[in-house]
Amino acid sequence: MAIIYLNGQWLPDSEAKVSVFDRGFLFADSVYEVIPAYAGNFFRFEEHIQRLNQSLESVKMDLRFDGQEWLSIGKELLAKNDLKQASLYLQVSRGTSAIRSHEFPAEIMPTIFAMVSELPPVVTSKQKTKGIQVISCEDIRWDRCDIKTTGLLANCLLLQKALESGADDSILVRDGKVLESTSSNVFAVKSGQILTPKLSDELLAGVTREFVMLLARNLGYSVLEVDLYEADLQEADEIWLTSSNKEIRPVVGLNHAKIGNGEIGNVWREMNQAYQKLKYNLYQGEFSEIAGINTL
Ligand code: PLP
Repeated sequence: MAIIYLNGQWLPDSEAKVSVFDRGFLFADSVYEVIPAYAGNFFRFEEHIQRLNQSLESVKMDLRFDGQEWLSIGKELLAKNDLKQASLYLQVSRGTSAIRSHEFPAEIMPTIFAMVSELPPVVTSKQKTKGIQVISCEDIRWDRCDIKTTGLLANCLLLQKALESGADDSILVRDGKVLESTSSNVFAVKSGQILTPKLSDELLAGVTREFVMLLARNLGYSVLEVDLYEADLQEADEIWLTSSNKEIRPVVGLNHAKIGNGEIGNVWREMNQAYQKLKYNLYQGEFSEIAGINTL
């Protein structure tokens, strides 16, 4: 049984209870973060907490919690659950009100929830060794996808659509423009250049996206944030999806057509190797600046 954190208490998951009047439950009035830990060290923790604070600010939630408090909750969860390679989930909802009403109550205490779960090894996962298949879908989400809210029903529907068509994920497109996938950012490699959709309200500023851009530039690649169209993906030599838990996933097929030669690309191999080396260094206790861990 997992031990979780809820509003200042450490509880077995089966004993943790949240009111049916919690606005997270009624309105998806809540924001969240997902942070990986390797060898007991959180990876790019500060960047994730910065994004959490941005999400809180965007939805006008006032939470006076600093990075050190989140870090000690995360570390305590790893210790209590005896995990070293883990995914930390943080969620803050606006809190519980006396009645169901859309307007924000004047006095309300946020509901703060955190848990850790084991992070399966990604390097050997089938999705990495064989590459993944994606389909493109019209984006049916709202216009503030830059906020990491728990209102993820559209993302779930779009992922489910991909799975039911035999693919692994959906790439979301609006007016022909590629935005992101259901839980990852998108990259394309074309003639040795690395391209990714530029940031806007329509996609999440992924922490891994930023890290992958940094890593690629360190390896000497030119990385451009651009308007990326579906046709660009069809003509790309490589496509990748990036996220904190799944790292960089190579895409080998789009809408049942091959990407490049239909096999995992060489630029992905180089990037993945560099990513794994950084993780390996973390295991050895070498905290390079680029990995940016526990720097709070
Ligand atoms: N885009 C969406 C919609 C996501 O849900 C996520 C991660 O959950 C990402 C992109 C990737 O973000 P990150 O690299 O910070 O995990």
